[in-house]
Amino acid sequence: MSLNGYEAVIGLEIHVQLRTRTKMFCGCELSFGDDPNVHTCPVCLAHPGSLPVVNAQAIQYGIQIGLALGCEIAPRSIFHRKNYFYPDNPKAYQISQYDIPLAINGRLGDIRIHRVHLEEDAAKLVHQSESGRIHGSGAGASLVDFNRGGTPLVEIVSEPDVRSGAEAREWLQLLRSTIKAIGASDVNMEEGSLRCDANVSIRPEGAQELGTKTELKNMNSFRFIERGIDAELARQRELVERGEAVTQETLHFDPRSGSITSLRSKEEAHDYRYFPEPDLVPLAPTDEMLAEARAALPELPGEREERYASELSVPDAHARQLARDPELGELFEAVLAAGPASPGAVANWVIGEAQARDVEPAALAALVAMVEDGKVTTQAAKQVLGKLAESGGDPAQIVEAEGLGAMEDSGELEEIVERALAAHPDEAEKVKAGGMQAIGPIIGFVMRETKGAADGKEVTRLVREKLGN
Ligand SMILES: [Zn+2]
Repeated sequence: MSLNGYEAVIGLEIHVQLRTRTKMFCGCELSFGDDPNVHTCPVCLAHPGSLPVVNAQAIQYGIQIGLALGCEIAPRSIFHRKNYFYPDNPKAYQISQYDIPLAINGRLGDIRIHRVHLEEDAAKLVHQSESGRIHGSGAGASLVDFNRGGTPLVEIVSEPDVRSGAEAREWLQLLRSTIKAIGASDVNMEEGSLRCDANVSIRPEGAQELGTKTELKNMNSFRFIERGIDAELARQRELVERGEAVTQETLHFDPRSGSITSLRSKEEAHDYRYFPEPDLVPLAPTDEMLAEARAALPELPGEREERYASELSVPDAHARQLARDPELGELFEAVLAAGPASPGAVANWVIGEAQARDVEPAALAALVAMVEDGKVTTQAAKQVLGKLAESGGDPAQIVEAEGLGAMEDSGELEEIVERALAAHPDEAEKVKAGGMQAIGPIIGFVMRETKGAADGKEVTRLVREKLGN
């Protein structure tokens, strides 16, 4: 996206709901889609005198996310109270981390990580429409479901290194696949277990000083994030070009209309009157906890991409796709482990052919190896793939039974090419005169006659040879 002499400066704030069994500070079970207010207790409903207890699994996930993002883990971080009143927040404060977060100074891909900290989610407000009102409530009432209140969250804040909506989208996909690989969250944007805000500003190209930023709130799909950021960048550029100032505020992007509206003026940190949570001790992970968290980390997408590209010589775009899509990556690994086919060819088939995903890895490995050995053409192999996906079996036997083996006898192929030329005299004339686009029906004839067993390149070569072209 062109910004006419301006540079975009974008920082991302991501909230991830952790996949623990229970809430951050009490024993209530996490749930999604259960009846409202069935997972509550005095702690998450903020009854007077109730005391929080930190969830150990949430801490381990937090540390793992920090490590996976290349951060330094703080030897001693502090929980704070972030004070604000809202109906979804019964304590009138959220337990979060403030000046000493769990992890700082990391990097994922090209984007630096400012901080990673632990906190708790708010409850969920359900706004009733006039027609959907329930017994006893007025029209348009708002109801509170406390099931979500107290769900463990990790907040990840990037440095303002992102330069476009497209880059934000791609980076968030990498972040999502990284957290998914750890198993720390479902990272499902539709269900709200991954939520993203973007701080957006522009400045003249080459300038060091940052422009006034706005905050785009709660965009719930990767596509909307890209579109929302680009729309906000365009809005800011227009303002600045008209000589007007950008106001620091919180904004909402409506993906249906593409419009941006103001939600409220932006709070400053001092509005929240942060102070240390007196009911919790500082979080000081032991060496054992750190070692355990590190040992439980799987190979992460970034590392996997690097390994595929450098050790297996898989082309970059394919290496990236396999590394970031866990299902594709697993199939790729299984096919490689099962047979002699080369990684580049396996990557091609796994990514390029949807039906490959329904085939036994060993069968796919055998088929790809047959293509590489010239025993079957790519085109015939696709037919074999279809049969394998449908009813399984042994690729070599299918090739044999269906007569799909590559033609090794070039005399036979020559004879078929001659018949093809005889059957298409007009096209043959055109090809002879240099009109190669007329070759289609001739090749089609050969392919039909050979059931796709002929190699397309070889057929083209023979046709040209016979026509003296
Ligand atoms: Zn509870």
